[in-house]
Amino acid sequence: MKHYDLIIVGAGIAGASAAYEFSKQGDNVLLLEQYQFLHTKGSSQGGSRIFRHAYENPNYIKLAIEAGELWRELEHNLKEKLVFPTGGIDIGTNDNKDLQDIQTALQATAQDYEVLSAHETNKRFPAFQLSSDMIALYQKDAAILAATRAVNALLLAAALAGADLQDNTELVKIDMAKDRVTVKTNLTSFSASKIILAAGSWLDKLLPDLKLNLDVEQQQVIYLKVNKPHLHSMVNMPIFINRNPAAMVYGFPLIDSPTAIKVANHLAAPKIEIENRNFELNSQRAKNTIAQVRSFMPYVSDNLEDFATCLYTKTKTEDFIIDLHPEYDNLLIAGGFSGHGFKFGSLLGKLFIDKFAKTGKYDLDMFGF
Ligand SMILES: Cc1cc2nc3c(=O)[nH]c(=O)nc-3n(C[C@H](O)[C@H](O)[C@H](O)COP(=O)(O)OP(=O)(O)OC[C@H]3O[C@@H](n4cnc5c(N)ncnc54)[C@H](O)[C@@H]3O)c2cc1C
Repeated sequence: MKHYDLIIVGAGIAGASAAYEFSKQGDNVLLLEQYQFLHTKGSSQGGSRIFRHAYENPNYIKLAIEAGELWRELEHNLKEKLVFPTGGIDIGTNDNKDLQDIQTALQATAQDYEVLSAHETNKRFPAFQLSSDMIALYQKDAAILAATRAVNALLLAAALAGADLQDNTELVKIDMAKDRVTVKTNLTSFSASKIILAAGSWLDKLLPDLKLNLDVEQQQVIYLKVNKPHLHSMVNMPIFINRNPAAMVYGFPLIDSPTAIKVANHLAAPKIEIENRNFELNSQRAKNTIAQVRSFMPYVSDNLEDFATCLYTKTKTEDFIIDLHPEYDNLLIAGGFSGHGFKFGSLLGKLFIDKFAKTGKYDLDMFGF
């Protein structure tokens, strides 16, 4: 049986980041993925993800700042364009609590931002036509991350650093001991000194005794054709999040398609059992999202060009789980990224190294389960 320093289960953004960072520091790493690499059944696939500093919690802002620097470093080292700076606006009514909390957190972390009136927003970014009771919080550091391309780049870099990458290989059984782990896959068995479970929406199934209480939601993104493409280009339109507590729609300028922008509603997607995941459009949800978006983006049509489904794996607090198993400190649980984890992908591997080594370089207390 082949032995490794570390086995990583799952080749989404979390597993790919781990494979890269641990192999770079000289560890002998095996990464296992149950499906084909870059498959579209999990959470990390697609052309675009939002990168932003604008969070209500200063801890996330600090991590996002470091992640932003690391994304740029990765672009340079991996020679791959991964980050498309657009700036970003969080919009809402002028008494919106999220917007107030984000401002407080940005001030506490000394981040630049601007508060724009509806009139200023509509003039500066004419793709948006906000009603007079709304404001926009503009943050220049927001950007678009090329999602699948980033995962691919990290996997290639991990392989170049010496990692063994195996797709179509499902972990089916784990035998834990304090200093050694043995795993059985559908093909063969391996052993390692330690293991990271970065299994996304399948994590709960691998650790049934721990009661991680993760909710899996089937999300969808829709692509809507626009009437005035130049207003929706990456030069003229920032990424946006509408902080309406009833329907938090968000979206991107033209990037995945030359004719349609990608939008979605972050909230209240149907909870599912992973076995029941399907790839169909939820038409009622799409209709609601279209109505929401068109209420402040008048040049977006209701003409659906395309759609895609994707999975959220949510904790009750929407804070991630990056924690050691209570009995085995050679087993790291990395999941529950709750629909906002991708942006930290450049940093996750380093956080995992810190958690195993217990050096406390990062404050990871909020990521316990
Ligand atoms: C529609 C949508 C929009 C999003 N937008 C944003 C955004 O704008 N900004 C942002 O920061 N984040 C965003 N997110 C969240 C982000 O994409 C996720 O938090 C992140 O991709 C989670 O990555 P992961 O590696 O944990 O999971 P996954 O990508 O699902 O990876 C887990 C992998 O583990 C594999 N696996 C599971 N079980 C086994 C097993 N037994 N053996 C082998 N392999 C196994 C799976 O096949 C899968 O490939 C969005 C997510 C979705 C769905």
